[in-house]
Amino acid sequence: MKDSLTNLHNHEYILEILEREVELQKQTPKGLVVMMLDIDHFKRVNDTYGHQKGDQVLIKIADVIQSCLRSSDFAGRYGGEEFMVILSGISGINSGIEVAERIKECISNCVFENNELRVTISIGLACYQGESTKELVGIADKLLYQAKGNGRNRIEYHKK
Ligand code: GH3
Ligand code: MG
Ligand code: MG
Repeated sequence: MKDSLTNLHNHEYILEILEREVELQKQTPKGLVVMMLDIDHFKRVNDTYGHQKGDQVLIKIADVIQSCLRSSDFAGRYGGEEFMVILSGISGINSGIEVAERIKECISNCVFENNELRVTISIGLACYQGESTKELVGIADKLLYQAKGNGRNRIEYHKK
């Protein structure tokens, strides 16, 4: 259930949690936000500093993400340098955006490798409004790629 590198939930388990949270929302709507996060230009980090340093950056970023969350939230490693965050019982999209901003800022303020390496993250944020799990992930993913296209180190969301 755990990702061995970062100690976050692994791909399968974070999706299982999301599935469960979506089901719970159908019974008792209490607010659910899903974020897809992807480190910007991470290939450059590996190319410049090597994969072992890259791994250390991933571990640190996972810790930073976790430290920005409440105990009722969930963070998983979705894939290589991609993460999923689930905010459960969130009061509205604005609270979700605040959390995303906090994660983005904390990461951009982190320094690695004797002050010379910094990384940023892009985030797509989707607020549950009756979608299936698959649709919700698809929306967050699409917004993530908009964040990349719009310059990276930014958050994209839909506000209805
Ligand atoms: P973008 O801003 O568009 O996301 O650029 P990017 O370089 O982050 O994206 P790209 O998909 O080109 O590269 C992702 C890199 O992440 C390439 C891959 O080697 C690296 N990566 C994935 N998993 C791991 C891992 O477990 N450890 C390390 N060190 N690198 C990883
Ligand atoms: Mg990626
Ligand atoms: Mg990336």
